[in-house]
Amino acid sequence: IYDAKTLWELVERRAAATPDTPMLLDPADRTVTFGEFKAWAERVAAGYHALGITAGTRVTWQLPTRIESIVAATALARLGAVQNPIIPFYREKEVGFCLRQTDAEFYLTPGIWKGFDFVAMGEALGKEQPGGLTVLVAYDELPEGDPASLPPAPTDGDEVRWLYYTSGTTSDPKGVQHTDGTLIAGGIGLAKALDMAQTDVGSIAFPYAHIAGPDYVNTLLITGFPAVIIETFDPAGVIPVYKRLGVTMVGGGPAFYVAFLNEQRKQPGEKIIPSLRIVSGGGAPKPPELYHEVVDEMQAVLCHGYGMTESPMIAQGGPNDSADQLKFTEGKPVFGIEVRIVRADGTPAGPDEEGEVRLRGPMVFKGYTDPELTKEAFDEDGFYRTGDLGKLRADGHLSLTGRLKDVIIRKGENISAREIEDLLFAHPKVADVAVVGLTDRERGERVCAVVERQPGQPDLEFDEMVRYLKDASLMVQKIPEQLEVVDALPRNDTLRKVLKFKIRDEYNAKPWTPRR
Ligand code: ATP
Ligand code: MG
Repeated sequence: IYDAKTLWELVERRAAATPDTPMLLDPADRTVTFGEFKAWAERVAAGYHALGITAGTRVTWQLPTRIESIVAATALARLGAVQNPIIPFYREKEVGFCLRQTDAEFYLTPGIWKGFDFVAMGEALGKEQPGGLTVLVAYDELPEGDPASLPPAPTDGDEVRWLYYTSGTTSDPKGVQHTDGTLIAGGIGLAKALDMAQTDVGSIAFPYAHIAGPDYVNTLLITGFPAVIIETFDPAGVIPVYKRLGVTMVGGGPAFYVAFLNEQRKQPGEKIIPSLRIVSGGGAPKPPELYHEVVDEMQAVLCHGYGMTESPMIAQGGPNDSADQLKFTEGKPVFGIEVRIVRADGTPAGPDEEGEVRLRGPMVFKGYTDPELTKEAFDEDGFYRTGDLGKLRADGHLSLTGRLKDVIIRKGENISAREIEDLLFAHPKVADVAVVGLTDRERGERVCAVVERQPGQPDLEFDEMVRYLKDASLMVQKIPEQLEVVDALPRNDTLRKVLKFKIRDEYNAKPWTPRR
């Protein structure tokens, strides 16, 4: 199974190995076995083929996290179509952007938005109507046909068949090209890192259209265990479902960890998901304290990982790692990846020394859709420059320290936003925090902390923050000179990632009076 070249080959091999084992479950207690999944995807592939989708057809799809969506994407993979998954929250502007960038021939929509304005979308495309684009309303009724009518399945796992757009945290979203091979390599990396077994029960409660979606499904196919598919994540509603279905692994990212913890705190002392052994995810920084909170209160191991659209699996903590490793690192680089840490002058960094994280390996993307961006993105040895800062410890675990673009340069001195954020996060009056550099005539940039207020707590005061950070031995130059307290930080819709550029734009436009 490990050496399947294409996604469809993986589906076929798993279906042959364990046809009667459950693969997909949902809150309505539906169960689809690996054998049923393969047969269903094949019928849907025939249905799509009859509608004109074939190898190389570009299909943008915007499907919810439902069993049918996984079947639809797998049917497209069976045909060898080029798929561009986009998350359900996107509206006209973002959908238009992706359709135009992808030059999609088909657009699959759940068709559940009464208010969705296709004419506005056509305008976003620069056309009166979305001409040249076939809109298929998917999922309530996936089209089905006779598998005997299907052309042969693709055999080349290195062809670009997946287009994803980055979160747009640092710049405009970039089009990232993946293949069946890169996504399978990511799935293998995750399965091995988390030490998954056929007795596990996972869950997809984050948007399946996120690149972690197919990676996770590949993990199911590789290992042969089921996952519960959750369309709308509502922590209180999901816990009884997980309890009933015996889920052993939950997660998504830090926002999910916190949501589960909040539920757990409503029933202290009683493990809310008795079968749970792993809380995992990645995609955003995890404050170190969360490790103990999850371990002590939820009685499960918190395994945090590091991934990005360009390489969804890079490093991942595992259930057998030490507390220190799980608390302070993003885990070990996953199976098959090469990680290099490079100094600003391009020379290799030593153990525990900070530098840019660079990657090479079978899960790394095949370049951006824009060849100019691709040229800049890879170094002379073919390593991808992630733009993230981190260190490899002597024990081989990777610890992220920030992003190159998230370094604040105050009076010529480099300050890591991440270091200050980790300290402030531990403060009881802080629900979440983002530290940014704001344009400042005198300092070049000044350090500004934007704190999301903790419900039920008074606001963090400026002087209180300064004292707290001094007590934590933070260098005086690094202590924020500006503090803003808000109800909610601006976030994106996929992993609830904080959008720092929005924070910078907002506070750069506002007057500010120095406090010290
Ligand atoms: P864009 O590239 O468009 O600016 P983005 O990089 O935020 O957006 P994604 O690919 O969704 O888009 O996110 C990947 C980034 O998320 C990584 O490069 C890294 O900076 C951050 N990240 C991922 N995992 C972690 C983690 N465990 N800890 C800290 N940061 C992480
Ligand atoms: Mg990025």
